[in-house]
Amino acid sequence: MVKPPYKSTDVKICVDEMKRFNTKGRMIFPSHKKHGKEKAEPEVIKECYCPNGHNLVNTQSVFREYNGIVLKVKCAGKSGLVFLSPICGDKSRFSFDVDLVEGELLEISCLECGASFPVYGPCDCGGQYITLFLGKDLEFTNCLGICNRVGCTNSWMRYGDEIRRCYMRETL
Ligand SMILES: [Zn+2]
Ligand SMILES: [Zn+2]
Repeated sequence: MVKPPYKSTDVKICVDEMKRFNTKGRMIFPSHKKHGKEKAEPEVIKECYCPNGHNLVNTQSVFREYNGIVLKVKCAGKSGLVFLSPICGDKSRFSFDVDLVEGELLEISCLECGASFPVYGPCDCGGQYITLFLGKDLEFTNCLGICNRVGCTNSWMRYGDEIRRCYMRETL
């Protein structure tokens, strides 16, 4: 059963409320920054895909008015979900059913099919960048790289030959 969305101005209340929701519930997170309506639209990831083409952006989480990115994670032997803000530069994240232990390396998979994400390459911190594809064609030249170490802030977006490190989300 899908619970109706609720709104809260306090993320802690959100968290406590959420425990009574199952993972099919919809979560709405308050924004960390206030933006006037006159401001330009932020850059938002509207879709990204697992190796089998499942879209990881869905209505299970909402950051401001944008649907969040859901990932299944395993940390220190426990499984749960992590929701990431789809807004570039927004460090918001939220874990569900799993404690993220600082410094641990996460096993990250698709919630839908359980597929692991391909490793793009090593991160400076000793973790690994995992690849979330930005297009349905699943090309490594159009992807989002996220370090799998809890607490590492390294992440980037690649569009063709351009790799933008300005996308400094506080990853996972
Ligand atoms: Zn999948
Ligand atoms: Zn890293």
